[in-house]
Parts: sequence; C-alpha cells; structure tokens
Amino acid sequence: MRPGELIAGDRGARALRDGDLAQAWAVLAEVMDPEVPVVSVIDLGIVRDLDWRAGHLHLVVTPTYSGCPATEVIEGDIRQALEQAGFAEPALERRLTPAWSTDWISDQGRERLRAYGIAPPAGSASLRGASPTVCCPQCASSDTELLSQFGSTACKALYRCRACLEPFDYFKCL
Ligand SMILES: [Zn+2]
Repeated sequence: MRPGELIAGDRGARALRDGDLAQAWAVLAEVMDPEVPVVSVIDLGIVRDLDWRAGHLHLVVTPTYSGCPATEVIEGDIRQALEQAGFAEPALERRLTPAWSTDWISDQGRERLRAYGIAPPAGSASLRGASPTVCCPQCASSDTELLSQFGSTACKALYRCRACLEPFDYFKCL
C-alpha cells in the first residue's frame, strides 16, 4: 500500500509515511513533565521506543516513579499531543522493567532542571547510598546542606546553599 493510505476497517489507521517517526519524536519533545514543566518526556528519557504497528504509532513508556500519580497525566498528555499532530489512536505500552533511572535524564534535561532552580541528580544511580555532592543551582557552590529528604514532591529533597543561603529542590537519584 502507498505511504499514508488509510487502512480499511480500522478508524484512523494508515500506512507509515516518511518522516512520521521523526515528527512523532519532535511532538514528544514538546510534551512537558506536569511536575517540572521545563523538562520534556524526551529529556526525562521515559519514552523508550517508538515504532509503527498495524497502522498506528506504538510507544513504549517507562514511568519515572512507579505509583507516581503524574504517570497517568503524562500518558494522557502524550496521547493528546500525538492525536493533535495527526497520529490517530497511538498505542502506549507501559514497561516497568528495567525501572526508570535518573541516569536516563538527558544532558539537556539536566541543564533545564538547573536553569529552573532544581539541582539535577548528582552522579550515577549506581552510586546511590553514597552522599552526593549537590551543587546549588543558583550560584553553583558545592557548600550545601540537606534540610529534608522530601522537597516539594517525594522524588525531590530539600537543600539549602550555605554560600547564597537559598533553599532549593534536589532531584534525587534513582
Ligand atoms: Zn547558592
């Protein structure tokens, strides 16, 4: 069948066109995390795979924190953005293994977190347990102290900078 041709008997299904997958990635790069609206689902690394199956876009999504209520919101936002871009009824597959890790956050995502005032995860998740050196997102000082294991959400810790005295959220390593 020709690229883009509708598939009979399945609403919205069509053959893959050149550029469809690249466009879908571009759409996803604009879908922001509801809790931290400066990082996209691509920055977070939660979209693990994207392909075309039986006339529809098929995505594999690994939620950041299992049981996080934001997961449903993120999946809804992904679906809506793709539908609006002309991808009818995208299929989302939720994959829990391997579990998402902060190691999957892109360099751009880390930079965006810092610019937003959240210290990005320090080091690698494989080093968790060791106390990380957390740098202040405002003044970059490493002279910081932990105030609380839980910041504005469970996945963040609250720190304070001893240099500029500003409190800030730190995105914990997972
Ligand atoms: Zn500071």
